[in-house]
Amino acid sequence: MYGDCRKGETARTLVDVIWLPKKWGKTIRMTRINGVAGQLSKVSRELDQLPAKYDSFLFPPAGTVNCRVIEGTKRLSAHGSATAIDIAQQHSDYWRWAKPDSKGRYPYRNHIPTEIVEIFEKHGFIWGGRWYHYDTMHFEYRPELLK
Ligand SMILES: [Zn+2]
Repeated sequence: MYGDCRKGETARTLVDVIWLPKKWGKTIRMTRINGVAGQLSKVSRELDQLPAKYDSFLFPPAGTVNCRVIEGTKRLSAHGSATAIDIAQQHSDYWRWAKPDSKGRYPYRNHIPTEIVEIFEKHGFIWGGRWYHYDTMHFEYRPELLK
């Protein structure tokens, strides 16, 4: 659907999104397939209205398109199809960085403010902070999974 990034197919679907026009105003690239870039623009304009105390969570973003597999698997990451954005890496929690408890479970941690998560989710993005294998800086828009 989004093309195989390893064959250069995803690159042809990319369009510019201005990330936080007032706060940051630089261009990031997302796929136009399934309206992903359009939805991210809506998120961007709304996040741009948040008070300055949220700025360090919002820009510079940690990345969008990146042709890579999910760590520890052979599956392509949502970043390969340019359907995902990572926000502030320095505030991020990732299950692989956590030490499992005595039952082998990964203790949940999150430092991303609810206000930010709510804006992404309002526009249909899936938050990686809701996964058992959590990745709290990660948001992806995959309407084909929700149907
Ligand atoms: Zn990610």
